[in-house]
Amino acid sequence: MDNCIFCKIVAKQIPATVLYEDDDLLAFKDINPAAPVHFLIIPKKHLSSLADAKPEDAVLLGKMLELAPKLAAEHGCAYVEDANGNKSGGFKTVVNTGPNGGQVVYHLHMHVLGGAKL
Ligand code: C5P
Repeated sequence: MDNCIFCKIVAKQIPATVLYEDDDLLAFKDINPAAPVHFLIIPKKHLSSLADAKPEDAVLLGKMLELAPKLAAEHGCAYVEDANGNKSGGFKTVVNTGPNGGQVVYHLHMHVLGGAKL
């Protein structure tokens, strides 16, 4: 979509530190990190926000959610529960939607934050 900064990142017209890419998704480091680990997972397809997702986007949304723990683990933020039930690690996922949700970039994205107790 014209004038969408994340579409431009998808099209490699704007640089980003890409952590993962496939046919449907792109993940890259947030340029203004709010945690030691902070990256964004976006669909390559332009959806302005979570509120614009349609039933046919359910698989895409599922892929975003599925990728989050995998990439978080690759970057040192695995969630672990040991045999005794002790829990450690983990990360936060955030999807800001609309002005009241604090959304600044109107291309759906999931923040993944970790590396500290948030
Ligand atoms: O969820 P929200 O729209 O508020 O967040 C947008 C995020 O996109 C910000 O954390 C900002 O740092 C990030 N960003 C980025 N690379 C850009 C432009 C914005 O990582 N070129």
